[in-house]
Amino acid sequence: MKSDTDTLSSNRVIAADFIVNAGWIATVDANDTVFQNASLAVKNGVILGVGPQAECAQRFQADKIIDMPDHLLCPGFINGHNHAAMNLLRGFADDLPLMTWLEQHIWPTESKYVDEEFAEDGVRLAIAEMLKSGTSCFTDMYFFPDITAKLAHQYGMRAQVAFPVLELETAWASGPEEYIDKGLQVIDDFKHSSFANVCFGPHSPYTVSRATLERVATLANELDANIHIHAHETRQEVSAFIEEHKIRPLELLNDIGLASPRLQCAHMVHASDSDIELLAATGTHVIHCVRSNLKLASGLFRMHNMLEAGVNVGLGTDGAASNNSLNMLSEMNISAIMAKAVAGKADAVTASQALRAATINGARAIGREDAIGSLEAGKQADFFAIDVNRVECLPMYEPVSHLVYTAQNSHITDVWTAGEKRVEDGQLLHMDTIALREKANQWRKTLSA
Ligand SMILES: [Zn+2]
Repeated sequence: MKSDTDTLSSNRVIAADFIVNAGWIATVDANDTVFQNASLAVKNGVILGVGPQAECAQRFQADKIIDMPDHLLCPGFINGHNHAAMNLLRGFADDLPLMTWLEQHIWPTESKYVDEEFAEDGVRLAIAEMLKSGTSCFTDMYFFPDITAKLAHQYGMRAQVAFPVLELETAWASGPEEYIDKGLQVIDDFKHSSFANVCFGPHSPYTVSRATLERVATLANELDANIHIHAHETRQEVSAFIEEHKIRPLELLNDIGLASPRLQCAHMVHASDSDIELLAATGTHVIHCVRSNLKLASGLFRMHNMLEAGVNVGLGTDGAASNNSLNMLSEMNISAIMAKAVAGKADAVTASQALRAATINGARAIGREDAIGSLEAGKQADFFAIDVNRVECLPMYEPVSHLVYTAQNSHITDVWTAGEKRVEDGQLLHMDTIALREKANQWRKTLSA
């Protein structure tokens, strides 16, 4: 029998900080529920409830009601692989294969110019671009991870900051020991941040020695920390590795105990059937960077096969130096349409699967599925609103198909993270865009001199 308290609490109207009434809400919950004429109620940065407007009106009340009848609300995108500071190298060297691009253009420029100021200006520019395009969380892998974590925290952007681990000396550290020592300090410095979560970012199996990878595996185990790595990006990289080590790169990661649900492999373009089985069996996550892989002619990712095998696949932009934008709508679009061409099947990677890859799968990859990646009661209020009533968008039959196959970045109008508005009417609320432009242009002059 229900007590009075039960009856009272179930009938009680809960006070929210604000309620958004939207034309549509794509929740990305387990059933891919899309509500029409729906509401999202938020309190203290957390979602109180989401559902049909009439139902929510009975359950929640707020002084602040935001009416968006022309908009679709979606969970904020989770950009699973980025090198944010490389925004300053957007378009710096194009139309080149990966190793020429890296060895002759990117690495020499980085060794000459990358310092704290470069990181600070580049990351700020990237955060501005990501927030404006609906991204509320990103994984970063670059020098000066302390600066990335600081800026993510400052601007209310969620970030998994993978501190770099390399054998080579760079502006940030002299060798593997110093990378790891400094990285452990950054983990400690941000352990209480609700926005920045710091983890290990060994560059790749082909640039980091087995001994260093083993040390990373031991420490990451002890700290229960994630590991983010580049793997199987190009055919040459995989064949050269096999020739030298007599083992596939992913097999080596598995041998030393790295392959697990705490590991995220960016790229995995050249994955054999046995690699895909190993990824699925170990719960290792994959971050697919379709635009970067296509532009660098790295190859065609088998997203369809990965999903069928049960591998968790998230999406990432990679850095703006190889993309050349941080546009997650475009990543969803191309990953879905390319998967159809690769599989020879029009139903390979549906719009819903592409949206899940850009949101909840990304959350799962970084171990934050309980807090972000979908719009459900109890999760963080990280979401964006996109105007689907523009002439070039009409008519709209299926909101999720629309989002993946039709929508454009410029249609994203408002973005919230932790229930706080960061973008309004397409404009960043807490960033000085004039200063951002000036800094970017100064760097262009310096780098092209
Ligand atoms: Zn990368």
